[in-house]
Amino acid sequence: MSISSFNPPRRTLMGPGPSDISPQVLQALSKPTIGHLDPLFVNMMDEVKSLLQYAFQTKNEITMAVSAPGSAGMETCFVNLVEPGEKVIVCINGVFGARMKENVERVGGIAITVDGEWGRAVSPSQLEDTLKQHSDAKFVAFVHAETSTGALSDAQTLCAIAKQYGCITIVDAVTSLGGVELRVDDWQIDAIYSGSQKCLSCVPGLSPVSFSPSAVDKIKSRTTKVQSWFLDQTLVMDYWANNSGGKRSYHHTAPVNSLYALHESLLHLYREGLETAWARHADQHQALAQGLADLGIEFIVPEAERLPQLNAVYIPEGVDDVAVRSYLLNEFNLEIGAGLGAFAGKAWRIGLMGYSAKSENVLLCIAALKQALN
Ligand code: PLP
Repeated sequence: MSISSFNPPRRTLMGPGPSDISPQVLQALSKPTIGHLDPLFVNMMDEVKSLLQYAFQTKNEITMAVSAPGSAGMETCFVNLVEPGEKVIVCINGVFGARMKENVERVGGIAITVDGEWGRAVSPSQLEDTLKQHSDAKFVAFVHAETSTGALSDAQTLCAIAKQYGCITIVDAVTSLGGVELRVDDWQIDAIYSGSQKCLSCVPGLSPVSFSPSAVDKIKSRTTKVQSWFLDQTLVMDYWANNSGGKRSYHHTAPVNSLYALHESLLHLYREGLETAWARHADQHQALAQGLADLGIEFIVPEAERLPQLNAVYIPEGVDDVAVRSYLLNEFNLEIGAGLGAFAGKAWRIGLMGYSAKSENVLLCIAALKQALN
């Protein structure tokens, strides 16, 4: 065998995630590993919780990072909240809404879908009509920022409607957290999950999650055991509910260094300020949209429903999708994303997430695309 150390090139990551990671966050990863029950590590985890509460805009005691990617955060919500036979209204306007439905069915729930157009926000009136027909539904689930299409849904309005019908709300914020306005408590979100690798610009593999007191009550009143041992929140809630004085015990070995990185990236977000971060994403999106318009490239999503951090655009007529993306990667070390699901081969997804949402990336992307399309 002649295997040597892996030395990845330095790419500019403007796809659907992972996003670019700052040097400080990368440095945090390489700090000495300490035990995950070391008092110093436990203190750091308390800070991670406080920083996540800030990022989510919540006072929820159960706010933490699941030691696995966004899909595990999704699964954590469904596997803990939904019991067999319970009805969940799932809004589907892209790949990740469809993944939610899959989760509901795998835990034995009954998924009632609100089928929306791909590339559009979830329709509040369609949700309300469905709730009227299914007054026994216990949950409403939707994706705030559909990464597969670039559409932003109105989470505040959707949750307000769900609450009128007495439902617990489950929201996917994998791509929205840190990139667009999100207020868990004010918007009445009961269960929410995100991912470390998008607008938080941390390494992939961690999923911030938060549960409201109502969601916690629902979990505690279960009559059936949670099917997954690893994701069972009843086993880890006490760990997270207690602050420094509380007793922390072993559940699984935490990904110590990745959590240093999350701590650092959340600290950056805190220091920048949420509103400033949201405005930065919006500004960079405007600059990118202008540059794309100059190249004759069109957006899939109507302007009012667009995600600033994920720009889904039609591949111009006659242009070879793979050839252009390979050219950008090989000539400019620049990654943009391919279309997903119904948009495979028809769209590009250009990310402006977290540390990637900056002028130099916008300029590079427009210049590189211009050259590739000539
Ligand atoms: N939900 C949304 C909206 C996503 O964009 C993604 C990943 O792109 C996921 C869920 C799944 O996250 P992960 O790939 O980290 O498992």
